[in-house]
Amino acid sequence: MGELQYYAGIDIGGSNIKYGIIDSTGKILVREQKPARADKGATPLLHLITNIAENLLLHAAENEYPINWLGIGSPGTIDNLTGTVNGRCPNIPGWVGTEIGAHLKDHLNMPVYVDNDANAMALAEFRFGAAKRFRSVLCITVGTGIGGGIIIDGQLWRGAHFSAGEVGHIIIDYKGKPCRCGNIGCLEAYCSSQAILNRARSKLKDGMSEMLKSVLNGDPDNLTIKKLFAAARKSDETALEIVEETATILGAGLSGLVNVLNPQAIIFGGGVVDGGAGFIEIVGAEIRKRAFPSATEKLRILKAELGNDAGFIGAGLLGEHKSKRQ
Ligand SMILES: [Zn+2]
Repeated sequence: MGELQYYAGIDIGGSNIKYGIIDSTGKILVREQKPARADKGATPLLHLITNIAENLLLHAAENEYPINWLGIGSPGTIDNLTGTVNGRCPNIPGWVGTEIGAHLKDHLNMPVYVDNDANAMALAEFRFGAAKRFRSVLCITVGTGIGGGIIIDGQLWRGAHFSAGEVGHIIIDYKGKPCRCGNIGCLEAYCSSQAILNRARSKLKDGMSEMLKSVLNGDPDNLTIKKLFAAARKSDETALEIVEETATILGAGLSGLVNVLNPQAIIFGGGVVDGGAGFIEIVGAEIRKRAFPSATEKLRILKAELGNDAGFIGAGLLGEHKSKRQ
């Protein structure tokens, strides 16, 4: 065993900023979070992140955790060479164009690496979580959006222009539902938490079980993802139907990706997956039904292990996974 390394990472989300310090065994030494208040705009958010970064690095210095760089995970397409948000970020208004990397480097006087949050999550699972036994994996989060991180032969695949891994915008129906990206028929338009709730509520308006009636006070608008999955786990017929339908759509969409990339494993995380009720098993069965046997025979389908910590852990690791052109 060599000397311990220490990593500091910040995970920017639309609702919360999570951050912390870990060591090279994966032990979490600091774990904190603060509300992002993204609705206040990009500049206050950048100030908040700068403030968090300074406090985190000061804390590291006081506790003698030697930190060599700061890593940041952010929603949106991130130019990993400059640390700039350069496309598509519906969760944080005004975030596109923000020069996170340049701004923080100026303030902190140390290297700063910025990458997409799903890429960071994939790195964390790859190093310390469910993907650590594998070399080629897809890490997919299903929640308010559907994000993906692709690791091939131990390397994060960012794409030619940092745009790879947008699993949520695989088109599964060219005449389908509108997606918030502006396209139609994307996986996200069917399987994000909002899409699931919309489908479930319209079904529940045609009638619901006594159990759901009492949980929701008779109003389908009171349905949440947690309540939906809780009802499915108790075998509520409509809830199960929605969960199965969602998992089937997701599995169908992902089977194409399995045919293209032939990964060793797919790791699923995020609020929808955490609901249980057989969701991930149905996704897996659908992938096995649709993708080539040669691609699925040894394919492992697993749950992410690091939960909400994956984002800041993976961000901290970014300095070890620099873009080749850097
Ligand atoms: Zn889309």
